[in-house]
Amino acid sequence: MPSDTAMLTPSETPAFLTRLAAIVGATHLLTAPADLAPYLTDWRGRFTGRALAAVRPGSTAEMQAVVRECLAAGVAMVPQGGNTGLVGGATPDASGRALIIQFSRLNRIRQVDPANDAIVVEAGCTLAAVQAAAEAAGRLFPLSLAAEGSCQIGGNLATNAGGVQVLRYGTMRDLTLGLEAVLPNGELWSGLTALRKNNTGYDLRHLLIGAEGTLGIITAAALKLFPRPAETVTIWLGVASPAAAVELLAATLAVFDAQLTAFELICPLSLQLVRQHFPQLPPPLVAPWHVLCEFSGSAEDDLPQKAENFLAARLADSAISDGVLAQTNAQRKNLWALRENISEAQKKEGVSIKHDIALPTSRIAEFLQRIAPLLTTRFPGIRHVAFGHLGDGNLHFNVSMPDAAANTRLLAQEHEVNEIVYDLVHAQEGSISAEHGIGQLKREFLTRYKTPAWLAAMRAIKHALDPAGLMNPGKIMID
Ligand SMILES: Cc1cc2nc3c(=O)[nH]c(=O)nc-3n(C[C@H](O)[C@H](O)[C@H](O)COP(=O)(O)OP(=O)(O)OC[C@H]3O[C@@H](n4cnc5c(N)ncnc54)[C@H](O)[C@@H]3O)c2cc1C
Repeated sequence: MPSDTAMLTPSETPAFLTRLAAIVGATHLLTAPADLAPYLTDWRGRFTGRALAAVRPGSTAEMQAVVRECLAAGVAMVPQGGNTGLVGGATPDASGRALIIQFSRLNRIRQVDPANDAIVVEAGCTLAAVQAAAEAAGRLFPLSLAAEGSCQIGGNLATNAGGVQVLRYGTMRDLTLGLEAVLPNGELWSGLTALRKNNTGYDLRHLLIGAEGTLGIITAAALKLFPRPAETVTIWLGVASPAAAVELLAATLAVFDAQLTAFELICPLSLQLVRQHFPQLPPPLVAPWHVLCEFSGSAEDDLPQKAENFLAARLADSAISDGVLAQTNAQRKNLWALRENISEAQKKEGVSIKHDIALPTSRIAEFLQRIAPLLTTRFPGIRHVAFGHLGDGNLHFNVSMPDAAANTRLLAQEHEVNEIVYDLVHAQEGSISAEHGIGQLKREFLTRYKTPAWLAAMRAIKHALDPAGLMNPGKIMID
């Protein structure tokens, strides 16, 4: 919580709120409990907090004025984009003294420059809106994830979002040319250049990306665009095991190289849950494990033929047990719907203990082989949903018990479950957070695995930029 600044007392609160309303307009300041309720709980329903109010600045200048008021009054700020984050990063704490900062009015596409393959957008644009603006200009903005209709660019930046095309295009960090942000002291940091080369000292852009709103408020970004691939081919493959999937990845890259844009691993339980909760989406084939794979390129690449030849060759050398090539756009969408509804199906099933981990791709099969007995010995009956972006070594490994009472008991032992999973990830030189961030969910594990030197540097940076500790307190770091 705020350290160097006096905190707002209850008697000062009405005047503070009046000053905020004067900045943004009364209709853009939410204080009624019913209006605030949707913003107090995270997407998974695992974290609930309280807040003084939620404010919706309509311009960068309004944002600066709001931050200055908060600084003067010692009020903590919690930036919240689409609230689709999975680690409780956008949920306020229980004190009820923080202000939620929302971005829905900062949603302009400021500039599209196809000749420079760049787009400048405000933080409150949804990812889908940015994809659409790029498409309207005949370009591709490649970040793609299941929450793209709701998540916002500011949230994507603050979490360094990944998604299904990192293999080809990189994470949000790789896709960002410049940023504009309001710093915790209310000053505007204008780094909104659309340059591919710019070596002019420390680059605050890379500190703000992935900082989960703890170092400042991102208000706009200059992002990279790409040529739109003329052709996209999607295939669904059955494989014997995760080890076979890793071998298949190498074989696929050897043939397709940069034409491979997605390579997703899916365990049988993931599909079973999708089938149960979305019966309109039957799996295309039966296999021990599944891979969803996508290629894109120019018309000259003749990808459909190349993919068909590849399928035939992999069936012949038994690298796959079966394969389906989407023949129409509707079939392609259906294959992706199976993958993209895994999170939703798990949510419908109940709460699970989620792990978004990164490992060297070469060690993923070993991880899955070793983790299963470790967990089952300690928690008999535990089940695992394992799926994710195998192409970039990112696995979503979520555990739960099949029946509700046993699951409640398991959730009470979440810390022990996490220790088992993360200790193995750490021993295998992996990361406890691949693309979702730390938020509130993983704070204690950050301090468990990061070295003292690493933590000290992070604290020094935080203190230098946010000495009052008002920017999204309680997220990422434990002091
Ligand atoms: C079904 C589903 C699928 C998902 N799939 C993926 C996936 O494949 N890959 C992936 O990476 N993530 C995935 N996510 C997680 C989530 O969508 C991403 O983390 C997304 O980037 C969050 O964006 P948001 O706008 O919802 O951010 P929020 O949840 O609102 O906030 C996330 C964090 O960013 C901070 N923040 C938000 N806006 C700003 C801003 N303007 N300035 C500073 N800080 C800010 C918040 O304080 C918080 O710490 C998925 C989520 C769901 C529900």
